[in-house]
Amino acid sequence: MKRNKLSRVLVVLLGLVALAVLASLFFSASLFGGLDRPTLPFATSFAGAINVNTISDNEIREVLEGVAEGIPRVVVVIGTRPEMVKLAPVVQHLRKLKHMATFVIFTDQHGALLDQANALFQIRPDFRLHVMASNQSLADLDARLMFSLGRFFKAFAPSLVVVQGDTTSAKVAAEAAFYLGIDTAHVEAGLRTFQRRLPFPEEFNRVVADYTSRFHFAPTSISAANLLREGIDHQRLFVVGNSGIDSLLHIAASIPDSEHIKDILSRVDKSSQIVLVTAHRRESQGSTMRGIFEAILTLSQIFGELHFLLPVHPNPNVRVIAEEVLHDQAGISLLPPLEYADFARLLDHCSFVITDSGGVQEEATAFGKPILVIRNSTERTEGVLAGVAELIGTSKDGIIAKVLPCSFCPNSNILYFSFDRYQSSWWTRRLEAA
Ligand code: UDP
Repeated sequence: MKRNKLSRVLVVLLGLVALAVLASLFFSASLFGGLDRPTLPFATSFAGAINVNTISDNEIREVLEGVAEGIPRVVVVIGTRPEMVKLAPVVQHLRKLKHMATFVIFTDQHGALLDQANALFQIRPDFRLHVMASNQSLADLDARLMFSLGRFFKAFAPSLVVVQGDTTSAKVAAEAAFYLGIDTAHVEAGLRTFQRRLPFPEEFNRVVADYTSRFHFAPTSISAANLLREGIDHQRLFVVGNSGIDSLLHIAASIPDSEHIKDILSRVDKSSQIVLVTAHRRESQGSTMRGIFEAILTLSQIFGELHFLLPVHPNPNVRVIAEEVLHDQAGISLLPPLEYADFARLLDHCSFVITDSGGVQEEATAFGKPILVIRNSTERTEGVLAGVAELIGTSKDGIIAKVLPCSFCPNSNILYFSFDRYQSSWWTRRLEAA
């Protein structure tokens, strides 16, 4: 009995020793490369999926060559087309200042559109992150940006980071700088719809960018008032106007119609009035976007004297639906994304604008063009309060119902809104005829 117990204990002990020997052999072999390293499927696929680009110490050293020691460094972060349009005049000014050194980093959140807009402004980036990947999730984009920008700011040690607006690049740059105790200046601060997911994720992005920034450059007194209400220090809050309008007026005054614009206009009947349409918001993608394009189709059938020009956003969630619904329809031209100067020329040529874009709402106002905003709320309330912009929602029937009672004055840029007023039988006849 006793011997039996002893032999069982011996067997267990021998087993444990054998296991220990095997484990130590396995780990020493993997350490010295004798065996394949144990695979970690989660870690491997995660790293592969986000494929993070970083900026090397060498790149930083090269850029800093010739920059005087101790001079404050300002880093301007640009990720998308609207950031390029609105930060170009800021960068051009900052680069003239001798008491600080200004560096530009392109995150390439929308790489192709960013480059297209930059064809005009010619802002030389000192660094590029190339974070764009087709249809990547917001979480992946956020993670890549945080990793790359966090490392870059730590190594580069700027005195100030400048971000603009409401993109994920702007939000993450402000956050990464905040974590490192670096000051951020937010250009276009204080815009709010006060609805957490409208627009998505922009409302969230600007709240975070404002919260984490130290200096706030608000475009209007309304945006400044929003910030004061949130407890932002008035001594670091400046009402500076809209740098996008600076870009627009500069371009509009200096650049005539390009051959491309002449070609587009030659395909529009001389007696037609041009309606410029853009739609791309993330929260409208899917069936809502289809409804928006179907509404445009119906309106083009009702109003034969209107010609709808649509520069289509390259996002496949927009482009595919636009082509399915609007391709080859009379009175509608689908266009590739336009160079910024060409887009500005069309703003000048059009009679009115239908858009869900933030920047385009402001630019159309600067050209004195009426705007129908295909959204349920806007952070650009100034145009609505001034009566030049009207929120017409995103539902197909709602858009048609809102536009139908408008009357279009031939040969003028004036769109007469007659919502709920004097609705003659004129538009009912149009509807029946369609
Ligand atoms: N824009 C452009 N080409 C186009 C459409 C728009 O250059 O085909 C410009 C437009 O003048 C404005 C900016 O892009 O300055 C707006 O960008 P977007 O609508 O992508 O962004 P949002 O303003 O909604 O953030």
